[in-house]
Amino acid sequence: MVRLKNVNKHFGELHVLRDIDLDVARGEVVVVIGPSGSGKSTLCRAINRLETIDDGEITIDGEVLPAEGKGLAKLRADVGMVFQSFNLFAHKSILENVTLGPIKVKGMKSAAAKELAMSLLERVGVDNQAQKLPAQLSGGQQQRVAIARALAMQPKVMLFDEPTSALDPEMINEVLDAMVVLAKEGMTMIVVTHEMGFARKAADRVIFMADGEIMEQATPEEFFTNPQSDRAKDFLGKIL
Ligand code: ADP
Ligand code: MG
Repeated sequence: MVRLKNVNKHFGELHVLRDIDLDVARGEVVVVIGPSGSGKSTLCRAINRLETIDDGEITIDGEVLPAEGKGLAKLRADVGMVFQSFNLFAHKSILENVTLGPIKVKGMKSAAAKELAMSLLERVGVDNQAQKLPAQLSGGQQQRVAIARALAMQPKVMLFDEPTSALDPEMINEVLDAMVVLAKEGMTMIVVTHEMGFARKAADRVIFMADGEIMEQATPEEFFTNPQSDRAKDFLGKIL
């Protein structure tokens, strides 16, 4: 579903993605972990083409991600993204936040978009908040709305970049639970998170990044119990 071939990215002198090769199968859930500054966010942003790459190739469901133009808008709609900060439209209701994309980008009729939005809000457990404004919801509820909003575009893959790291501890699980459900339903997912519980429950594979490189990949069980590199051992020692 997602394939990166020899992807490199620099910010000036800084080599942030180094020869990244990554294949994510349809329905696979990949958790990306690694120290701050290792390139995890840049990797996500490159897959959604929010960031250009210097060389290499990224394909989504067999189609090469173009640099710009109509093809880019179409492929970008195939990739849903949920960030650390929820980025909901502050002056629009929860329902409007979710219907906006389908109506504006996909040309969906208002009634159909509403129906879709309500079913997605129900799926993440916030359908009873539909008429409220984002600021009236807790952080955990807002992040679940952000997930529903991304799903409303009917993406082929979902990217999550530290979706729970801005949340108060008691709200982390309600968001992770919604993500676990999504994973079990067969969504293809790339998830940057240090939440080991999520990785154990939902990940097919854990990827450990350091200094812009994929240093290790393994099943969660293998990775957490028997990391191979010193970098990974050191990192796990700090977060466990
Ligand atoms: P991570 O998400 O793993 O913490 P990032 O992908 O955000 O890492 O960043 C990787 C490196 O690239 C860091 O050193 C960061 O400071 C740098 N970086 C990220 N975005 C930019 C940018 N727009 N311009 C310059 N440097 C950047
Ligand atoms: Mg990051």
